[in-house]
Amino acid sequence: MGQRARREHLFVETDGQVYLIRDHGNLRFPRAGEKLPFLTEPNGVMDFGTDRVLRQKPRLDHHPEEWLGRDAIFERTDVDPLVKRAIYTTMIRCVSEVILSNGPRVLMVKAVRGFSKGYWNVPGGFMDYGESPEVGVEREAEEEIGVGIRLDGLLNVYVSGFPGKPAYTLGFVYKGHIASDAFRLKPDEIEDVGWFTVDKALTLTRNPFAKWALVDFFLQSNEARFALSVHRHGAAPHVGGPDRPTVFLDRDGVINRGRAGYVRRPDQFQFLPGAIQGMRLLQDRGWQLVIVTNQDAAGWKLLPEAQLAKVHDRMLAGLRKAGVQVAEIYYCPHNVLSDCACRKPRPGMLLAAARDLGARPRSAWMVGDKPMDVQTGRAFGCRTAWVGPKAWRRRFAAEVRPWSPDVVADGLLEAARAIVRYSEDPVVEASRKSRADPTITS
Ligand SMILES: [Mg+2]
Repeated sequence: MGQRARREHLFVETDGQVYLIRDHGNLRFPRAGEKLPFLTEPNGVMDFGTDRVLRQKPRLDHHPEEWLGRDAIFERTDVDPLVKRAIYTTMIRCVSEVILSNGPRVLMVKAVRGFSKGYWNVPGGFMDYGESPEVGVEREAEEEIGVGIRLDGLLNVYVSGFPGKPAYTLGFVYKGHIASDAFRLKPDEIEDVGWFTVDKALTLTRNPFAKWALVDFFLQSNEARFALSVHRHGAAPHVGGPDRPTVFLDRDGVINRGRAGYVRRPDQFQFLPGAIQGMRLLQDRGWQLVIVTNQDAAGWKLLPEAQLAKVHDRMLAGLRKAGVQVAEIYYCPHNVLSDCACRKPRPGMLLAAARDLGARPRSAWMVGDKPMDVQTGRAFGCRTAWVGPKAWRRRFAAEVRPWSPDVVADGLLEAARAIVRYSEDPVVEASRKSRADPTITS
C-alpha cells in the first residue's frame, strides 16, 4: 500500500489569495518541482489518495492582488476540480456537544442512525448554518433528549481529522446539567439514554471529541476524580504536571514472558528480549513509562497483593539497573467477573494516570499484546501499538481488527522504534500540537 506514485501539487495561499498556473486554458495548482517566482514554506499536507496537496505559505513582500481569491473560484468553469476540492476541504466543519453531568456520572445517548449508529455518544451534533456553538448544542441536545439543558460553560475546543480524509472538524464541547430527567427521546435518532461513569462512557463511544472531552471533564470534576479508585504499586515519587507524553505498557507478553499459571513469584519474572531496550529508547525520547496490568492471579486469590508487590519490586530493580525509571505500575487485582473501572478494556488505570501523572490521550500511546489492550488504548482516545510474535498476531488478527492499532510490531523494541518514528513525522507532530489543550488544569 502507498507504493503507487502519487501526484504532488502545491497549494500556495496567503490572505485568501491562491496562486494558480494557467495550463491549456485551465487554472491548476503548480506541481511539486515546478519553479515558482517566490520562496515558500511548508504548511501542512492534504491527502487525497492518489493526489497529495502540499500546503505552502509564500514569502512575499506584497499582497498578491493578481492571484485568484479563494471564494471566487467556485463560480469559475476554468478551474481544475482538484483546486476546488482542496479549497472546499479547508472549510471547517463544526460540531457542538455537551457533557451533561450528575455527580461523577455523565449522560450518554445511543444513536439509531448516522455516523454513530449503534454507538453511544454525548448529546450534540453538527451546527446549523449561521448558528453559534451555544445555540447549536442547546438545540441539538434538547431535540435528542426532549428536556431543557443548562450550560455551565465551555469545557474545551478540539480539532480532529479522520483517517484517510483531508477534511477536519472543530468540536466545541460544553459542560452542563439537565432541568429534569423526564426524557422524551427523538424517535428516529436516539434509542436509549443513560448515566455512566467516565471510564464506562469511554468504552461506549467512538467519537474522538467525546473521548477527549470525557477525559477533560474527569480532570475538572472533583466528584469524578475522587470516585475513581485504582490500585498502584507506588513506583516513584509522583511528578504531576499537565500533558506529560506517556507510553502505557501492558506487562505480561510485552515486558516479560507470560506464563501458564501466571507469574506468581519474583523468580518467575523473565524480561522479554528487547523489552528493556525499548523502554530505554522511549524514556530517552522524553516519554514517561506507566505500566497498566490486569492481574487475574490476584483476582482469583492465587497471588496475594503483597506477593505481587515483590514481583514488581524485582522488575523495577532490573529496570533500574539498566537506567529505566517507571513512573507508576497500576494493576487491577480483580477478576473477569468484576465490573470495576480498572480492569482492561475499561480505561480506569489510564484515567488514574491522567489524574496522577499528567498523562493525556492526545500525547499518549498504549502498547499491549492482547486485542483488549488495543481496545483499552482506543477507549482512552490515545494511539495504540499491538505487539507479539507473528503466530500470535495471526491468531488474534480478526479480534484486533475493530480497534485498528496504529502500529503492529514483533515486540516492545520494534514498537518503541515505530512510536519514535511516528512522533518525529512533522505532519503527525504538527497535528498533535494543534490538538494541545490550553484550558486544562490538574
Ligand atoms: Mg499481556
